[in-house]
Amino acid sequence: MYPGDAEFGFELLVCRWAETSWPPESARESPVLVSRQLGTQQRRWDTVVLECDPEGLAARRQFGGRELDSDLLHVVRNAPEEWAWYRDALPDPGYPWRYVRAAVHRAADRGVVEKRRRGNRIEIRRIAPYPDWLRRIVAVENKPDLDASAARALAGQLEHDVETALADEVWVATESTGSRVEPALLEDLPVDVGILTLSIDADGTDGLDDEPVASVEWYPSEVTPEGDGNDDEHRRRRLELAERAYGRGWRSYHETMRPDCRHFELRRFGRALLPRCAAKDRSQTAAECAGSCPEFEPEPPAWRSRGWPIEGGPGKGIKRLLRRRRERVREREIERE
Ligand code: SF4
Repeated sequence: MYPGDAEFGFELLVCRWAETSWPPESARESPVLVSRQLGTQQRRWDTVVLECDPEGLAARRQFGGRELDSDLLHVVRNAPEEWAWYRDALPDPGYPWRYVRAAVHRAADRGVVEKRRRGNRIEIRRIAPYPDWLRRIVAVENKPDLDASAARALAGQLEHDVETALADEVWVATESTGSRVEPALLEDLPVDVGILTLSIDADGTDGLDDEPVASVEWYPSEVTPEGDGNDDEHRRRRLELAERAYGRGWRSYHETMRPDCRHFELRRFGRALLPRCAAKDRSQTAAECAGSCPEFEPEPPAWRSRGWPIEGGPGKGIKRLLRRRRERVREREIERE
């Protein structure tokens, strides 16, 4: 059983498991980056796993640790090797050039392209070719209590995922019940979607070895279509998604929850650090852990002063810790060749 009854805890454990153990039931062949709550305007996935090209991922590092949004990607991917007027160098964006010009300034400020002025023209030059670092995108929907009615409710969304083929593979992750996945449940899910069950030992809150164990109940099909689906627009959308995952990682919950609340704690669960609420005496959901929570209490100012007990207060300390872990995991994957 995962900690508390919040699906959020399960989601974080799936992310942590993917970080250490993806792909299920086989050896890792390429570095992976894991993110959560990422997708498009139409569809947000719980967990996103990027399988990366090792050399490409190492080369991506030259462009910094922050994500490149769609405007910056347009500039960086098309910046020329030699100095050129940005309007000559970049493809027509299909929207006013003044926005491209603003993106050129932003890109130069970030150091991801070079810029100079020649008369009244702005010229650009690339700092390096933007690498082809993304191999595959895997989308995982987390449903710890996957019964037949939950499967039916999910089916429409999963069919959409398969049809849009933004991800190469789509999975549903559920908690292992110790018995076989019912055939009826398999019938309710699209046949292209994989099913993964995770066995979680809730007693293992202090043990580093209490990692979830995953088993494949059903393998997914590769859903990326041949031909049309590999056009520039499709590649651009996938890359934008991948860039967001690269920049954010999956521990971004500290930005949407309230680590600055005096009741916010982090608890070790296996090798994952999961949020816990001391006031509620359980794992809180991401939605309830907000300024509107009736039990929210800011950290006392004394916690933040004189470097005691943690410089900047426990809330800042938690944010620092999670940010450092995220950066460390990304570096580890970049160096895995
Ligand atoms: S009291 Fe509310 S805001 Fe504070 S940690 Fe608990 S859930 Fe989050």
